[in-house]
Amino acid sequence: MGAQRPEHVAVVGAGMVGLATAWFLQEQGVRVTVLDRTGVAAGSSWGNAGWLTPGLATPLPEPAVLKYGIRAVVSPKSPVYVPLSTDRRLLSFLVRFARNSTMPRWREAMRALVPVNSLALDDFDRLREGGVEAPTPEARPFLAAYRTPAERATLLEEIEHIRASGQPLEYDVLTGDEARALEPALSPAIGAAIRLDGQRYLTPSTYVAALAEQVRHRGARIVSGVQVDTVKQRGDQVQVAGEAYDAVVIASGAWLNQLAKPFGVSLPVQAGRGYSFTVPIDPVPAGPVYFPAQRVACTPDGDRLRIAGMMEFRPADAGLDTRRIEAIVDAARPLLRGAELGSRRDEWVGARPCTPDGLPLVGATRSDRVFVAGGHGMWGITLGPVTGRLLAERIVTGVLPEPLRPFDPLRS
Ligand SMILES: Cc1cc2nc3c(=O)[nH]c(=O)nc-3n(C[C@H](O)[C@H](O)[C@H](O)COP(=O)(O)OP(=O)(O)OC[C@H]3O[C@@H](n4cnc5c(N)ncnc54)[C@H](O)[C@@H]3O)c2cc1C
Repeated sequence: MGAQRPEHVAVVGAGMVGLATAWFLQEQGVRVTVLDRTGVAAGSSWGNAGWLTPGLATPLPEPAVLKYGIRAVVSPKSPVYVPLSTDRRLLSFLVRFARNSTMPRWREAMRALVPVNSLALDDFDRLREGGVEAPTPEARPFLAAYRTPAERATLLEEIEHIRASGQPLEYDVLTGDEARALEPALSPAIGAAIRLDGQRYLTPSTYVAALAEQVRHRGARIVSGVQVDTVKQRGDQVQVAGEAYDAVVIASGAWLNQLAKPFGVSLPVQAGRGYSFTVPIDPVPAGPVYFPAQRVACTPDGDRLRIAGMMEFRPADAGLDTRRIEAIVDAARPLLRGAELGSRRDEWVGARPCTPDGLPLVGATRSDRVFVAGGHGMWGITLGPVTGRLLAERIVTGVLPEPLRPFDPLRS
């Protein structure tokens, strides 16, 4: 930012990305005010699967997703849902998304993610050392589970592509019985699995609340119930919700375009909506369980299991569609043992902020006082802290950290 470091920065959005950015700005001695139209973790940072899995943080557009997309129009039970009556904005997003769903594009995007993925877990440790005490345990184990060895081939192939891109990822191939010995909550239907090493997980609502508490404790105001309709630059200040700041960070998740567009951010951020709920389960899995063929993600949450899934391309603010919850229940039922799927709580829908090239938008806009942090799609929890640290460095020093270069919010 010019020659001057900002003293007071507004952050719009109290999700994982906004709050992590606020925390790391505070580390640099900057005063922060966080504004949210609803409150802390009101967006997709609440009921997501909570995986901290840099080993799996890959770009969403890939050839296999495209195949799902085509099936989705035919089958309402598909884990990817694209409404038939699509509006022009969504169609344009899908066309761009499809263009990026090739192996060469995937490889290029993956190469851009590897540097931030490799820093991601260290930044959770920084937050912990700085007082954010909510746990981020290592996943022991993290299992991807399948009915048959044939179903497993897709992820094994993807793991090889991930490793070839320079992303370390250690794993073991297991039989169904070996997987059940590690994780008795897997049903007899599971006939093959992969155990991934070095990944972690958290309970997102608890973690983001703890992060907000620390941000407050370090002197920030977090103001709930403030809908920011515009950001205006006036000389060397920005006006946000009637107050003047030295700079602003737009971290408004799937709603990012509305505020960022006037500052040259033209890449669409589309809501890729996902659903989740928690159920009692006995035994509680020791770590996350992923059913890739059904695209269902399970994460232990105290004495319950959070079950998440679906990718529904509908407007971010549309209501919860109970049919999607039922589709996840039907997909999970034969694969889990001891889960009381009829005793659901915390039914939730949230909007993954997806970009058509699968990379986030992080950095300065046309104004060097207006910054953007968002568009992480499936991986905003894993990548929130590293995003916040690198962006805070950029805002305070004016020097762009190299790993942020591919995430230029002004790319088209
Ligand atoms: C089912 C599901 C499972 C997922 N699982 C994982 C996972 O396992 N691991 C992982 O890393 N990621 C996961 N994700 C993705 C992750 O949840 C998101 O990438 C992440 O939460 C995005 O955080 P954010 O802070 O950018 O956005 P959000 O959390 O959506 O925050 C944006 C905030 O901005 C506020 N806001 C919006 N517009 C305005 C405005 N105009 N004025 C004021 N405030 C405004 C909103 O109220 C909201 O609180 C999952 C997502 C879903 C849906």
